[in-house]
Amino acid sequence: MAPKKGDLTEEERELITVISKGTVEEAGRCLGSKEVRVNCLDEHGMTPLMHAAYKGKADMCKLLLQHGAEVNCNEHEHGYTALMFAGLSGKKEIVWMMLEAGADPDVLNSVGRTASQMAAFVGQHDCVTVINNFYPREKLDYYTKPQGLNTEPKLPVKLSGPLYKIITTTNLHPVKIVFMVKENPLLMETDALKKCSNVLDQICEKCMKQQDMNEVLAMKMHYISCILQKCITYIQEKEDKLDTFIKSLLKGRDSDCFPVFQEKLIRESIRKFPYCEATLLQQLVRSIAPVEIGSDPTAFSVLTQAITGQVGFIDAEFCTTCGEKGASKRCSVCKLVIYCDQNCQKLHWFTHKKICKILKEKREKHELEDAKEKKRQEKYNNQGLCIGIVYIHTGFCLYERNFYNVGIINLYSYRYSLPVPSSIGCPPRLSRLKGFKTFLFIYVYF
Ligand SMILES: [Zn+2]
Ligand SMILES: [Zn+2]
Repeated sequence: MAPKKGDLTEEERELITVISKGTVEEAGRCLGSKEVRVNCLDEHGMTPLMHAAYKGKADMCKLLLQHGAEVNCNEHEHGYTALMFAGLSGKKEIVWMMLEAGADPDVLNSVGRTASQMAAFVGQHDCVTVINNFYPREKLDYYTKPQGLNTEPKLPVKLSGPLYKIITTTNLHPVKIVFMVKENPLLMETDALKKCSNVLDQICEKCMKQQDMNEVLAMKMHYISCILQKCITYIQEKEDKLDTFIKSLLKGRDSDCFPVFQEKLIRESIRKFPYCEATLLQQLVRSIAPVEIGSDPTAFSVLTQAITGQVGFIDAEFCTTCGEKGASKRCSVCKLVIYCDQNCQKLHWFTHKKICKILKEKREKHELEDAKEKKRQEKYNNQGLCIGIVYIHTGFCLYERNFYNVGIINLYSYRYSLPVPSSIGCPPRLSRLKGFKTFLFIYVYF
């Protein structure tokens, strides 16, 4: 018999308390009791798994799933699922766990929102990325078994693992995808890559033709397939194991080091998407087509935003070479470009060296101006009140166009108006904002 809302035994109440305050061992002991049903419901219709997901406790979630917790239970008063609670908690490993346990990402809550939309609403973009990029391993493994009259599977079993790693990536940077191909000797053969690329095309077709069409996943599969096809061309033509391909992707044009080939390749891959009626394709083309090559937004950032749900690349630094999140090594000369490690820096140096010194001089000039500006402001060390607008116009720092115009327009100021810096080096947090932003501000200075 299905559990009733709020009909909890003493032991079940204890389990819920332990989930929020206790240890996994205690929870394990509770679950051992005959009086505890793992899918019991509290008065709001929340299961223990929902509580654990909401509290962001990965080990508790794991334990509950091992004890048979139902991941798609949908008795919550507002129609929230465990996956939705996981997304709200901001713990991406829990989101992943729920999806692997079979959570349905398309369930809607009582106001018609999916788990991905709810996570986006509370700013948990990493969780959105995980949900939007999840593809169950079984679906890929389907291609490793011969279908119909075929005696050979479309995908050899040994390729399933490496390909799965590529298709679940949330970093769509073409260099990163080439890295993943290079990493695995099994993939470094044209025949293997052709098979992978064909399977991706078939998954893409399935995503578009199934009843609950998934354009995002279809676009991702198509895009990766295009990059793999390019790898095939380079493996056939060059003997250097894709190094020429990587170089071409990174090579910047003379004026500002913008990687034109990379931009064109991504644009072309998007354009080649075989379902021209797809809304997502039209959206992407509308955002990219009017942009001159070298201006913002780049095709990579538009595509990444569409596929992973990452907005504005906030809160993380991205490697200039491979687009990996969390890069922290700066070029020691210009201090303006960031890499994951020495390897990424070395790969980029052949093109970055043309502009590194110029960037350094620009930075120093800006720092100098900044220091002068600070001194000038110190003079206005009086009490006052200001209301105004700050506007910031930034390039995307991935491609070395690292200067930002920050301006302040005072709408009202009491006593003194602050001098307006016309162009200053960008403060670190703002450097991750992209495009044109304006903020209204009110401040009091003492
Ligand atoms: Zn990197
Ligand atoms: Zn540099």
